[in-house]
Amino acid sequence: MRVAVNFEQIKQQIINACLRAKRNPEEVKVIAVTKYVSTDRASEALDAGIINLGENRDEGLLQKWEVLKDKPTWHYIGSLQTRKVKNIINKVEYIHSLDRISLAEEINKRAEQKVKCLVQVNVSGEESKHGLSSEEAVIFIESLHKFEKIRVEGLMTMAPLTNDEKQIRECFRKLRELRDQVQALELDYAPCTELSMGMSNDYVIAIEEGATMVRIGTALVGEDG
Ligand SMILES: *Cc1c(COP(=O)(O)O)cnc(C)c1O
Repeated sequence: MRVAVNFEQIKQQIINACLRAKRNPEEVKVIAVTKYVSTDRASEALDAGIINLGENRDEGLLQKWEVLKDKPTWHYIGSLQTRKVKNIINKVEYIHSLDRISLAEEINKRAEQKVKCLVQVNVSGEESKHGLSSEEAVIFIESLHKFEKIRVEGLMTMAPLTNDEKQIRECFRKLRELRDQVQALELDYAPCTELSMGMSNDYVIAIEEGATMVRIGTALVGEDG
């Protein structure tokens, strides 16, 4: 596995997708999802020039954090149990899976400074997926005003499990429209500029539809080793 080679190829794909969509490639952050791989591989990603690392479990994050500390910018991308907040808070800069008030309360209670949160939306409506419906998401974000440690930087979603590109694109487009709707509310605690969407198989489509954060595991750092 040569992370640097993969990263170069992915960067080129991002540039091409941005050209098609008339976007600036600098708007797109690449998050290397290291959940399947070792700390050594995560370290190789940093050496390749990757800044953002994503983990979806507290164990994986803590193990790597012990070694890498705050060299990377850490993103917590998995569903987060309330009782686990204390393990990861004040280590991660972004939490991509805010989806309920009880979780917001716990984050607010434990955080030493403002936490950049993304609200997870289940756009596709698949039952297996976490996140709020689009309608619920707006009401939820409005109700976060009372938590002074929470800043809603944007929205996150996962595409439906399908090979149908049209369905995937539709999902990402809907998240972008929802982001625009939240932005229009002009809430000071919810600038909502970020769109975290797109993984190894669909990040190009996500960028064409406006993604500002792509979460790439397999295609970037591999799935073992
Ligand atoms: C695992 C994971 C990813 C990365 O998946 P790949 O298909 O390996 O790129 C992205 N986002 C979330 C929330 C994940 O759990």
